Amino acid sequence: MSSFNDLIGRETDLPQVGRTIRLFAEAFDLPIVGAFHVTCSDETESECADVFERLFAQPLLPSLKTERRAPFRAANLGARYEPGAVHVAEEHFAAPEVQHSTKLIVVKINSHVAFRPTPEGPQYGTLRRYGSESDCCGALAALVQGSPLPAVHELEATFGTGRVDRLAMLRDPQRVPPEFRALLAAVTNARLQAARAVLDITEHEPASPTIFLVLPCVTINRQEPDTEVLIGEYGIDATGAAPRIKYRGLGDSPAAYQVRHEHGRVVIEDDHWPEGSV
Ligand SMILES: [Zn+2]
Repeated sequence: MSSFNDLIGRETDLPQVGRTIRLFAEAFDLPIVGAFHVTCSDETESECADVFERLFAQPLLPSLKTERRAPFRAANLGARYEPGAVHVAEEHFAAPEVQHSTKLIVVKINSHVAFRPTPEGPQYGTLRRYGSESDCCGALAALVQGSPLPAVHELEATFGTGRVDRLAMLRDPQRVPPEFRALLAAVTNARLQAARAVLDITEHEPASPTIFLVLPCVTINRQEPDTEVLIGEYGIDATGAAPRIKYRGLGDSPAAYQVRHEHGRVVIEDDHWPEGSV
């Protein structure tokens, strides 16, 4: 059983997720571990990036220079996976002295959403910062509202993957409760961006034998320390001639997600997760 079982679909403290990923990676006992972290540009995501660097990158990654270990990073509007990026990261960590050993690359993709408790219940999608109310994630809010940002065009295409109109689902109050729209847009985005990364991994041979762990996550930006929800885990074994892929976790249909709260923390399930629930 995977150590991620208790985390998938369940809001968890950032350090606990970071430590679980580290323990999971250490269990592979491979000579090189690399990492690629994708986040939104939003300044709220610095907390998530800091925790991943401190609890995963510092203990496990090779030294870049004295006292400096760091994951490959991408920060853009909406935490979009950029095609080709995982291969650049993989080449960086393909050290010559271990070219013939298998290495592990962890690809963590964080979408995000702000949370506020209100007397009417949990509220997702806006944050009070610098004295005013603002969308968080602003890029995903622009996507759902149909604003003409260049990043939105790319997000629109991703949300239509497989000819499924996920934006129509998110905008339909009968299919996605409006109070959870921003949250579930973030869940859908993380899941779809991870799928794009996985597709990219399978289309190009790595520079050296590699096991990839691709983790879609949603950061919950709170007034207190942030938390996150692990959406699923992809394992890609690219050590042989043809890559083998395994996925466990939530699906990519916003209309299928069921949301509830336990002790003030969100729990998300659908017809894919928990396994065996349908
Ligand atoms: Zn954002």
